[in-house]
Amino acid sequence: MRLLLKSIIFLVLSILTQIGGLVYISNDYLIKRAKINRTPLVFLSFIFLYGLTTFLIVPPLASLFGREKIKNSDRIQPTNYATIILNRNYVVPEINRILKNSEGYLKTSGLKIKYLDAGFPFLKYFPLLPHLSHHDGRKLDLSLVYSDAHGNLSNDKKSRSGYGAFEGPSSGENDQISTCLKQGFSQYDYPKYLTFGTVNTHLLFSEDYTKDLITSLLKNKEITKIFIEPHLKNRMMLTDSRIKYHGCRAVRHDDHIHIQI
Ligand SMILES: [Zn+2]
Repeated sequence: MRLLLKSIIFLVLSILTQIGGLVYISNDYLIKRAKINRTPLVFLSFIFLYGLTTFLIVPPLASLFGREKIKNSDRIQPTNYATIILNRNYVVPEINRILKNSEGYLKTSGLKIKYLDAGFPFLKYFPLLPHLSHHDGRKLDLSLVYSDAHGNLSNDKKSRSGYGAFEGPSSGENDQISTCLKQGFSQYDYPKYLTFGTVNTHLLFSEDYTKDLITSLLKNKEITKIFIEPHLKNRMMLTDSRIKYHGCRAVRHDDHIHIQI
């Protein structure tokens, strides 16, 4: 039972953070050698070791794998800091250059680029679940942009995790979500379970500011694909051929924008 429990903890930590499982095993080894067996001390020791690894050891090692952390600035920030703590903020340097360019294009608007899951620091095909394709540092999810009832820009978001607060189709718009669900792709809707609570419910999806964000990204020719739900693409009157439909096997993209190079 003990081994089974340890295996499950190892697996969950590896899925969530890539390195967490290894840190867990290392911590287990160290506390045994130090003859520590009180649960709070074991837990504290894990937190210390995880923090040390995540913030001091992983970044220089990741550069050997051609990855680096997303470079935060006044206007490039994670929607939720858990993205950073869980090591889900690693990209190839090109993505950082794109974000910096876009930040420059958006300089006058006050809009902040809020990012979600990117990639893990190591290995090319290590999956970043639940995403299908975030395994090489060349993909990044970004939050939609919102405004208040008067149309004033807000940099706040509607979901704690950044995922699952949908801007669904209005009547008369292309309802790809119903189409996929009717075809039996029930996972299409699953991000609704990933919000960790909705917040700022007064905010409204801003067509104008989200379009500004996407347009600033498209100025970077390195971007090969952007995924967003078709009804939002049409609503924002975006026509660039790099804005593609991701298909029913993915999940709905009316809660975030996916970019890739
Ligand atoms: Zn994505």
